[in-house]
Amino acid sequence: NKKINSFLETDGLIKNFGELRALDNVSIQVDRKEIVLLIGPNGSGKSTLINVITGFLPPDEGKVFFEKEDVTGKDPSELYKRGMVRTFQTPQPLPEMTVLENIMIGITSKGEEPLTALFYKKWLKQEEEILEKALDIINFLKLSHLTFKKAGELSGGQMKLVALGRALMTNPKLIVLDEPIAGVAPGLSHEIFSKILELREQDVTFLIVEHRLDIVLKYIDRLYIMFNGKVIAEGKGEKEIKEVLNDPKIIEIYIGD
Ligand code: ADP
Ligand code: MG
Repeated sequence: NKKINSFLETDGLIKNFGELRALDNVSIQVDRKEIVLLIGPNGSGKSTLINVITGFLPPDEGKVFFEKEDVTGKDPSELYKRGMVRTFQTPQPLPEMTVLENIMIGITSKGEEPLTALFYKKWLKQEEEILEKALDIINFLKLSHLTFKKAGELSGGQMKLVALGRALMTNPKLIVLDEPIAGVAPGLSHEIFSKILELREQDVTFLIVEHRLDIVLKYIDRLYIMFNGKVIAEGKGEKEIKEVLNDPKIIEIYIGD
């Protein structure tokens, strides 16, 4: 048996879609309070890896360990009870609901499909606590001026923040973000990452897929690069990360993209 040392670890993950091997023996490690970035050209398997880690897809082979426990194949609701939550590449707010409601549903949301059951619950006391918590999160994310705005009227960047807010409702230990600043203006992008740094100080760990290296590089502790379903390079710490990104082979893959 393999010795598991990290907060989150995958061991030899394989995922096939028919003939296509989307994950080919992927092993990564994430330590507590790290901000880990996963990059790679389109179609390299990043979203599939996130889907397998967060329980949205079962792997064909290999394992996922979270806090040293084997959580392979556990469904997203089980994982979020354990403290693992994710956001999606395309935020999925309920457009007719307010920012406040969209964040409140995080507490019952299993991730993919936000549940509306919350609003029918008799447990007023519990609802009051949920409301207070949502308002705290809105305040933390500096979204107070948008509390009662319909989510459908927000900018792309604001929606990404609401998605993060929804994830925070579950008191997560690990947040997996799929492209948190894609299409977001630089100013708001840095604001999102400064919130991520603040959350890290509160003991939250991050695994992030994001293309905007220019913005995210200064925030990350570890980097994995994927290509054709494989991890082809990794670096930990500023120096190693820079070396990896300056590797001509890596540059070629990116120019080829
Ligand atoms: P990335 O997020 O790095 O762009 P993905 O993980 O989305 O890459 O996709 C990896 C490969 O797997 C791609 O070739 C993609 O077309 C394929 N793929 C992803 N999801 C599915 C699916 N549900 N069914 C079939 N093929 C898929
Ligand atoms: Mg993707």
